[in-house]
Amino acid sequence: MSKTLNSNHPLLSRLADPDLLTSKAFIGGLWADAHDGNSITVTDPADGTELGMVARLNADDARRAAREAQNAWAAWAGTLPQERTAILRRWFDLMIAHREDLAMIMTAEQGKPISEARGEIDYAAAFVEFYAEEARRPNIESVTSHLPDAEVEVWREPVGVAALITPWNFPSAMLTRKAAAALAAGCSVVAHPSIETPFSALALARLAERAGMPKGVFNVVTGAAAEIVGAWMEDPRIRAVSFTGSTEVGRLLYRQGADTIKRLVLELGGHAPFVVFADADMDQAVDEAIKAKFATSGQDCLGANRFLVERSVYDEFCNAFAERTKALSVGKGVEDPDIGPLMNARAVAKQHEHVDDAIEKGARVLCGGSRHEAGDLFFQPTVLADVPNEAKIMHEETFGPVAAIAPFDTEAEAIDRANATEYGLVAYLHTQDPRRIYRASRAMRFGMVAVNRTKVTGAPIPFGGMKQSGLGREGSRLGLEAFTEVKYVCRDWA
Ligand code: NAD
Repeated sequence: MSKTLNSNHPLLSRLADPDLLTSKAFIGGLWADAHDGNSITVTDPADGTELGMVARLNADDARRAAREAQNAWAAWAGTLPQERTAILRRWFDLMIAHREDLAMIMTAEQGKPISEARGEIDYAAAFVEFYAEEARRPNIESVTSHLPDAEVEVWREPVGVAALITPWNFPSAMLTRKAAAALAAGCSVVAHPSIETPFSALALARLAERAGMPKGVFNVVTGAAAEIVGAWMEDPRIRAVSFTGSTEVGRLLYRQGADTIKRLVLELGGHAPFVVFADADMDQAVDEAIKAKFATSGQDCLGANRFLVERSVYDEFCNAFAERTKALSVGKGVEDPDIGPLMNARAVAKQHEHVDDAIEKGARVLCGGSRHEAGDLFFQPTVLADVPNEAKIMHEETFGPVAAIAPFDTEAEAIDRANATEYGLVAYLHTQDPRRIYRASRAMRFGMVAVNRTKVTGAPIPFGGMKQSGLGREGSRLGLEAFTEVKYVCRDWA
């Protein structure tokens, strides 16, 4: 561990392999500081302790990384698929072997409870394992020829260099979900991790290097997002961009990508409805509601924001959900509570804004409602009932531990209200009626519908949203599409 890193931190001091923690960026197979010595301080959101400094690179460095990735690309694209499989597989094995260290680094910089961090490392590694296998599946399709004297084939080829821009809420899984697919497809990558959680990405780069990733194939550039990503968006060498973050930044990247016609995958905001019909298994619905709201301390694009409950079971659900919420523990991630800190002061301010606005418009506070005594970035798990449709929380992503509940009277009303949003990532549905499950799942304008359960993610499923929740899919075989071009070859037979 270097001088620029805090070796006294309660989590970082316990790393079995301190070399996983680095303040340097990774470009062209070399670990780099900024030429001008600039750096950015990374802090533990649980108490504001400084974790260390990370290199603040600039637009020239971003272009240098693009050049290194471009230079490395042809050889990488030309490797035998089984070589890519072997390297990805070794990367997966190393992630599993260093699971505890990776989880501790994540909890230190992101704040999430350590059990959730371990779960994220497993989830992150699963993408690497999945795409290691996908790398060697056939990428040629034979097509029945439309001509009497020609043979037709359709090939999928890697697009070139892909830029991957990842957020702070899942600092490891969002990187591997993008990188493993791109690398398996034969792309080289330049990645920009959120400046709030860069150490997780750099630790994964360290393991990729040890796995034998050729120089320049996998680059991580730390620095201010607008500067680094801005340079890539103008750069014609960057052929695909995969971004996870807010809809607002997604729109900006969409516009910036127009000049060089980039392939875009956008995983943007969500505003998930959680709909409970009177015939639901109420214990199960409440259990799943707690998970859907409070996992990752509510900072999850899959997090349920609006609970719509049929009037005849409304009071029963509100009371049971509030009782369970009151029992949730709040604390530093290292103590492994149910809920950790929020990422930054902006996030805390947003909770206050949504709670105050809902109360002003007539909502009742069943529990919580203000900052938690555990520290500046902690917010009480909060349940608001009778939230009117005009309240901001019914239309905007809260991204925190605040639940808003409202009653409905008919199935049609529930579906209309669930769909009345610009977002379309995931919808949760609780009912025992198979016909209603079919009708409502069909009617929901969301990329993912979770019926009587909350956890729907995994490497083999297509993750992504409709409407302004994004473009394209990640995970599954569909996750390779953005990183490949289709080439059709027609061979004369005569
Ligand atoms: P954000 O969109 O500003 O940041 C997310 C990522 O985008 C980060 O890596 C950031 O460095 C990068 N980014 C920011 N500005 C950029 C720019 N000009 N050009 C290129 N990249 C840029 O999100 P945030 O401020 O960290 O969080 C605000 C809200 O975003 C949250 O409340 C939530 O609604 C949403 N969000 C969603 C997800 C998700 O999983 N879909 C993740 C994080 C944040």
